Amino acid sequence: MKVIYPGSFDPITNGHLDIISRACKQFEHVVVAVLKNNNKKALFSIEERIELIKESCKDLENLEVDSFSGLLIDYAKMKESKAIIRGLRAISDYENEMQMSLANRYLSDEIETFLMVSGTDYTYLSSSLVKEIASFGGDVSNFVPTPVLKALKTKFYKL
Ligand code: ADP
Repeated sequence: MKVIYPGSFDPITNGHLDIISRACKQFEHVVVAVLKNNNKKALFSIEERIELIKESCKDLENLEVDSFSGLLIDYAKMKESKAIIRGLRAISDYENEMQMSLANRYLSDEIETFLMVSGTDYTYLSSSLVKEIASFGGDVSNFVPTPVLKALKTKFYKL
């Protein structure tokens, strides 16, 4: 089965990586789809985010990295996928993910959403937290893959 893992990935964190590598074991083909969302102010461009995901997931053979805009359901149909995966960290994610998955099912009942529970080490981890800590010079080396660590240093400190 082919699944879509959509999100902002600004930037990819070890929490996302955990979901991706587990999904790659369960599904034949996983498409990480970076959402082009003009309303959200991003640190990394879409191209930078795609490149960082590719560099961080080099050894996963059944993984594809792409971007999309518009409705996720339309994108999933275009990719001929009948499944979406999203990560669930804490109760705070639940309401939002539930709402999105129900809305997507309303739009197409042929596409199912699978919610994957976060690894215990990553339940508090988010891209925003990583950006905030890194912007003040804090150590995020345990939170992100090496390519992202380097990219954050370049963005914030031109290193
Ligand atoms: P979005 O802006 O669409 O929420 P994100 O890049 O923040 O995009 O997240 C993409 C998906 O990954 C979401 O389903 C989110 O809940 C999940 N996710 C984010 N961080 C983690 C984490 N630390 N552990 C598990 N899932 C996560």
